[in-house]
Amino acid sequence: MDFGIAGRWALVCASSRGLGFGCAEALAGEGVNLVVNARSSDTLAQAAERLRGHGVEVREVAGDVTSPAVRGMLLDAAPQVDILVNNAGGPPPGDFRDWGEQEWLAALQSNMLTAVELIRGTVDDMAARGFGRVVNITSGSVKAPIANLGLSNGARSGLTGFVAGVARQPQLAAHGVTLNNLLPGRFATARILQTNGGTPPEPTGIPAGRFGDPAEFGAACAYLCSAQAGYITGQNLLLDGGAYPGTF
Ligand code: NAP
Repeated sequence: MDFGIAGRWALVCASSRGLGFGCAEALAGEGVNLVVNARSSDTLAQAAERLRGHGVEVREVAGDVTSPAVRGMLLDAAPQVDILVNNAGGPPPGDFRDWGEQEWLAALQSNMLTAVELIRGTVDDMAARGFGRVVNITSGSVKAPIANLGLSNGARSGLTGFVAGVARQPQLAAHGVTLNNLLPGRFATARILQTNGGTPPEPTGIPAGRFGDPAEFGAACAYLCSAQAGYITGQNLLLDGGAYPGTF
């Protein structure tokens, strides 16, 4: 299927590896030009080179996406942002008794407010042009909280509530702009090692019997960004190999 987005420009945050890279690569495979981002410029340069192999233009912006200055550079890097994929590192695990205001503000900055700011900086221009796609990488923890990831449960739920409201604004929804969230369950990336003390965990509790592949995640992202997905907005799509036990 031709997704009808070749030649468009996507800003994919936190995209030198893992789920963000999976999204960037799937979009590149659809002929979408990219602005990619990560803090480490070396890893970012390697990722960008791989993405250029798809024959698209790729611009690199190294820096911490939670910084307003870096977000400004990201928005300036593309001629226009047709597609915005919000992503950032996840907050550390722990016990909420150990977290003060500083830890909460960092988590909110990373997993809620940065996405809110980039949405604010892009969606009205998307609407003026009659096409826009926003995909936020959140977490299955929004649907089923993970006990030791309270910072993630809380911050990402805040973003989810915000997006649910904005997606339904007629000045966006009636002008070709959709906003959706992708909720990863457990995927085979560096993040899963980090949350398991550095060792690969067993895929217990996942009916699929394995961890997800970032390329599968990227394919779902590319579909939500496609021309065909124009009637899907304000939704939360869980990709977890069947781990969530509910009917809905
Ligand atoms: P990952 O493999 O560790 O990759 C994270 C990517 O983001 C890297 O490219 C990293 O590059 C970049 N990055 C991190 N913090 C950044 C920042 N502040 N500014 C710019 N770039 C940044 O992680 P992942 O597994 O893909 O996870 C992506 C998101 O999904 C995280 O928020 C994670 O919590 C969430 N998630 C993942 C899973 C899973 O199973 N993998 C499940 C649920 C939720 P640099 O380090 O060079 O900046």
